Amino acid sequence: MRVLIVEDELKMASLLRRGLLEEGYAADVARMGEDALWMAGAVDYDAIVLDLMLPGIDGVEVCRRLRASGVWSPVLMLTARDAYEDRVAGLDAGADDYLPKPFSFAELLARLRALVRRGAAERPAVLQVGDLRLDPATRQVWRGDHELSLSAKEFALLETFMLRPGEVLSRYRLLEHAWDFGYENRSNVVDVYVRYLRAKIDRPFGRDSLETVRGVGYRLRRDGGA
Ligand code: CA
Repeated sequence: MRVLIVEDELKMASLLRRGLLEEGYAADVARMGEDALWMAGAVDYDAIVLDLMLPGIDGVEVCRRLRASGVWSPVLMLTARDAYEDRVAGLDAGADDYLPKPFSFAELLARLRALVRRGAAERPAVLQVGDLRLDPATRQVWRGDHELSLSAKEFALLETFMLRPGEVLSRYRLLEHAWDFGYENRSNVVDVYVRYLRAKIDRPFGRDSLETVRGVGYRLRRDGGA
């Protein structure tokens, strides 16, 4: 297990590193965001402990650039105790978890273990399928450069598709993910909303990204209907 610690405060960085070494981890320290970016690109770290407050580019920006460059190592962000805005920004930039300072080292280790268990699969903060993009944080959707205006339900349905590109999803499965038990009239609501979605994400652009799979359900083409 090899961890990258990104922290400019020397004392904090060496404390973290010593603690991790004692637990049998290997640990490198980057004191600037720029250093962290090239180190994380060069080494496949099992986890990254990323301080939010850094000179130069801050932790949120480091996280965003890591994800944009295809680095999916789990990121645990260290934040100030009360700054919930920082935690929100960090998580939406692609961090997996956060820990407010000051923290107990035992909790840091437990969070690292939990992150490493989940692995480093791709999990972009902004979903992209072909030239369709969906940002769950800002609730924005784009087809290429065009921003689309979707209702809450249309958004939920599209998000369900975009989390599973290329998969055939039954009506039941779509209902299960985009509607709750509070919804009574479930008979053909999926078909209705697929129609709404097509009218917004496909038809104006001459695309056909949402395919009907007869007798089964629907599929969002991996190429986004390009
Ligand atoms: Ca710092």
